[in-house]
Amino acid sequence: MMVTKSSHFVSELANSIQPSGIRRFFDLASQMEDVVSLGVGEPDFTTPWNIIEASYHSLEQGYTAYTSNAGLFSLRREICRYLTKYDLDYNPEDEILVTVGASQAIDLVLRATIDRGDEVIIVNPGFVSYIPLIQMAGGKAVPLETKAENQFKPTPEQLEPLITAKTKAVFLCNPNNPTGTVLSRNDLEPIAQIVKDHDLLVYSDEIYAELIYEDDHVSTGALEGMKERTIIISGFSKAFAMTGWRLGYAVGPKEIIQAMLKIHQSSMMCASTMAQYAGLEALTGNSDNVKRMVRSYRQRRNYLVHQLNSMGLDCESPGGAFYLFPSIKKTGLSSEEFAERLLVSEKVAVVPGSVFGESGEGYIRCSYATSMTQLEEASKRIQRFVENVE
Ligand code: PMP
Repeated sequence: MMVTKSSHFVSELANSIQPSGIRRFFDLASQMEDVVSLGVGEPDFTTPWNIIEASYHSLEQGYTAYTSNAGLFSLRREICRYLTKYDLDYNPEDEILVTVGASQAIDLVLRATIDRGDEVIIVNPGFVSYIPLIQMAGGKAVPLETKAENQFKPTPEQLEPLITAKTKAVFLCNPNNPTGTVLSRNDLEPIAQIVKDHDLLVYSDEIYAELIYEDDHVSTGALEGMKERTIIISGFSKAFAMTGWRLGYAVGPKEIIQAMLKIHQSSMMCASTMAQYAGLEALTGNSDNVKRMVRSYRQRRNYLVHQLNSMGLDCESPGGAFYLFPSIKKTGLSSEEFAERLLVSEKVAVVPGSVFGESGEGYIRCSYATSMTQLEEASKRIQRFVENVE
């Protein structure tokens, strides 16, 4: 039988995409036993029971068909109502789209707004999916490399020189994955001013808005004159421990949401119906579980920040998400070497900062979305590794 290779069928565009640097570490870790993982970016909690039950009930009642393409109207209405807590005001009729996770919302907004060759300024260290999705939409990602001494916040002085005639948009992630950095009103306003001066769009990924520990979340869409040039991307994965349900949304100007809807109608039809009923309960039911999870993340963050600093790995206490981004520069290792050697010798999985962009070199990402027992064990092992590293 003739064996044919099919690689020549793969498109040039798909070939040009770099596989995620995070995957390699997960693959390595999954082949080992007794690994303590600070690697994964998802809550260790199970979805609260009332949400699971609401989904069961929807099935029992026979709600098993497609919903409207934009999502259940009742869910859209509740999302818009929920967003008023961030001073956002969107019309559930045509300014919101329910998607398959925030991931699909990112994909859709890029495909609906990027023309070939358009540039999108991304903030590094940044979420790994932005670059491949910008490329798949025909655009070019232009990194703004933030600095640790600015708590990894993008500054107006860094932003302005990156803008060219081809710049279409700025991608913000607030709170940020992987640094946990929270952008305040004072941080956002000068950036918004530049965006307005240059007539740009903002993609604002606010999926961690609920996981914020000191200040109140400030949404880019709520700033003066920004509503008409901001698409807010969010979802249920992080706040409600619902990563596997695949439920997210985008809100923004009607023209952009309707353009996204046209693509969504053909590529996805609608988000999963039972997940949408679960989402409805997440927003309307008892919210004690969310508060309990946030309290627990804060406690874990405080513990791990203290542990890392006391073993000599400089680490800020970031205001949001569930990640720490300590410096490993003192060890003299690159972030890849550190992560790989830590995994092999002490069986602790972390992510090298370099996978999140150039400015991530010299740092590692530690997720504290894991139990205190695991965090205690991880701290012991990292300390032993740091003491013995040569
Ligand atoms: N944005 C950021 C910043 C994320 O960290 C993630 C998940 N890791 C997503 C979007 C995607 O979330 P979802 O599960 O809703 O697709």
